Amino acid sequence: MQGIKSSGIRRMFELASSLESPLNLSIGQADFDVPDPIKDAAIKAIRDGKNGYTVTQGIPELNERIHADLKSRYRYDADATLVTSGVSGGLLLAFMVILDAGDEVLIPDPYFVMYKNLALLAGAVPRYYNTYPDFRLTREALEAAVSEQTKVLLVNSPGNPTGVVRSEEELQLAVDFAREHDLILISDEIYDHFIYDQPFRSLCEFTNDVILVSGFSKSLGMAGWRIGYATGPADILDCMKTLQQFSFVCAPAPAQHAVVAAFDVDLSPYYKSYRDKRDLVFEGIKNHFEVVKPEGSFYMFPKVPGLLSDMEFVEQALAENLLIVPGSTCSEQGSHFRLSFAASNDILQAGVETLNRMASAVKAGDLK
Ligand code: PMP
Repeated sequence: MQGIKSSGIRRMFELASSLESPLNLSIGQADFDVPDPIKDAAIKAIRDGKNGYTVTQGIPELNERIHADLKSRYRYDADATLVTSGVSGGLLLAFMVILDAGDEVLIPDPYFVMYKNLALLAGAVPRYYNTYPDFRLTREALEAAVSEQTKVLLVNSPGNPTGVVRSEEELQLAVDFAREHDLILISDEIYDHFIYDQPFRSLCEFTNDVILVSGFSKSLGMAGWRIGYATGPADILDCMKTLQQFSFVCAPAPAQHAVVAAFDVDLSPYYKSYRDKRDLVFEGIKNHFEVVKPEGSFYMFPKVPGLLSDMEFVEQALAENLLIVPGSTCSEQGSHFRLSFAASNDILQAGVETLNRMASAVKAGDLK
């Protein structure tokens, strides 16, 4: 714990608590609610008394649906699947099982902040492969970060906070690099349904030697229900299951039953509406900001304009009633900021106008 600082985003929330109804573009969850048939299934499970522990690995019906889903989407015949308490649960189990003190973990920069902190918790050392300025994965960046101590290569596509989706070439590079350096691949694909320009490619299409973590917090609008899953080589999955016995015990039972029913509910209109949100924001700000067009997830990671630091820009945004996240909370550098387009179109439109006004003020020298 001595290496872990509490989340930098918290400081912003404290600053923001004084605002009455801010334009909130800092949110990390979809803006739609769980569809009714899935809620009904959860309520039915509770009424039917499915409130006790489940088996550690999760109920068989859910494991079967996850297995079949991976097979139909990626032709991936998983050795084993494990239902976890969110993707966070899967990540924690994987890191604890794989890493010894002093091992190094290759993490993309920018990153989802949990990777760094879970590595530290395990006594391991986070090492960052730089993906700036276009957030692509390159062999040079991996070579610069790898060492004799490296044990894990972590890939996150679609990415938080960049929205970048790894191409076939990048995924093949990750697989080749892991093989050459004898690394364990962990692939976090929690945003797999939020994909806008090309079909999603999973790392498990390229290799069976990957621990895939994914889940339903984002895709079913149920971040508070805590359901995710992990698949991968049976020996590692077995260890994760054993550790789950002594930590999470099982994922929440009624929510597991509800997710079984969710496989029969079509949420594609929701995901399509996120493409429109992406376009609204990207087209709205692209002439005022240096920004990579996100191909997935619901984040963008624009560069802070002018000579301001990310914290200065975010504090100025707060003064304009706009909540965004400073890039240094999810990167080793503070040159960018994260905005989430998981919000109503009205809020997005108002947010775009505020951001553009701020960029113009920076340009005119009024914001320093
Ligand atoms: N991975 C990434 C990349 C995320 O952005 C998040 C949530 N912000 C998680 C994992 C954790 O998700 P869960 O709610 O399933 O624990």
